[in-house]
Amino acid sequence: MSDLSFRSHAPGYWPHEAMPQWREVRWQLRNRVDSLADLEARLKLSDIERAGVLLAGSKLAMSITPHFFNLIDRQDPECPIRRQVIPRIEEGWTAPEELTDPCGEDSHMPVPGLVHRYPDRVLFLVTDRCASYCRYCTRSRVVSGVGEQHLETQWEAAFKYLERTPQVRDVLLSGGDPLLFSDERLDRILTRLRAIPHIQFIRIGTRIPIFLPQRITPELCAVLKKHHPLFMSIHTNHPRELTAEAREALGLLAEAGIPLGNQSVLLRGVNDSVEVQKALVHKLLMCRVRPYYLYQCDLINGSSHLRTSVAEGIAIIDGLRGHTTGYAIPQFVIDGPGGGGKIPLNPQYIIDTAPGKVTLRNYEGEVFEYPDPVPMPATVLARLHAHGCQPQGG
Ligand code: SF4
Repeated sequence: MSDLSFRSHAPGYWPHEAMPQWREVRWQLRNRVDSLADLEARLKLSDIERAGVLLAGSKLAMSITPHFFNLIDRQDPECPIRRQVIPRIEEGWTAPEELTDPCGEDSHMPVPGLVHRYPDRVLFLVTDRCASYCRYCTRSRVVSGVGEQHLETQWEAAFKYLERTPQVRDVLLSGGDPLLFSDERLDRILTRLRAIPHIQFIRIGTRIPIFLPQRITPELCAVLKKHHPLFMSIHTNHPRELTAEAREALGLLAEAGIPLGNQSVLLRGVNDSVEVQKALVHKLLMCRVRPYYLYQCDLINGSSHLRTSVAEGIAIIDGLRGHTTGYAIPQFVIDGPGGGGKIPLNPQYIIDTAPGKVTLRNYEGEVFEYPDPVPMPATVLARLHAHGCQPQGG
């Protein structure tokens, strides 16, 4: 039976004297675990991890907030939290199918920092920094600032592009994590976007409610709610990430009228079972978050040890659909390698199609036939007309 409780893990690996500052964002950021010495002072590492940490300095930085670090189970070398944020030597191997920019974002930037791939919406990369860094990050080519490539968002040119591109009705702010900005800076960005009449809808992609829930304050929510309709996609992979602090933060966002969806990435040894996924989606609903996407892990360089097969993802959806609330089931997707966009993947429920009928199976494997509509016979139609009936009602 999965643990569905919402617990605080503070102070965990930190001394009790740290408790008065635990809720301070600055303290959390200043005390991030970001060096081998920091890490080894708290956790016994394997050789695979130690070598991975040394490699990370030139690839994707390691940095873990105390809040998130506390979720690591020190007794479990394969802890699902640990696998997400502590580098491993496998990151140093690039499989033949892997890519630096798996979603082909760089080739769809009319202005540096602004990705325009779908006609009516854009992805605005506003920062390269996050509170902690995920080892499978699809934007690890720029995120954290230690790799060879750097994000150089051209703010004014991006706003001007949006002003003169009326087909864009939806802007997704992402990065990096936009909620690392101050309230004032976020307010300025959102105000500027809201001044563009054709932008109907703004979204923010963030992992802050999970990595640094202390950042979600009533003051931040007051800023965000000025700019509705504003949706938020959070990023949670394992039920343990939904702590007491995360639930409180998500409650504040929900009270501010922000619809919340979750995007998780299917990761080997983290959430690659029906049991873990079911606990995750149930806890998300309890936090007023709708499970939105389950991503097949992108083909980012050095990710093969974290990727599962596509069939495993489909089997997980098969194990959820019909076995729990429909609202709890995310859409499983692959981002088409190289820039193909999101492609939905579903278990096969259609067994056969023939003229006039579809043969289907339900979640229990029972088989049903659904007859397709057939044109109404002319004699019936004539009879209806004769009685003054309209076939479509009305
Ligand atoms: S929070 Fe998002 S952008 Fe930041 S490292 Fe994780 S996946 Fe990448």
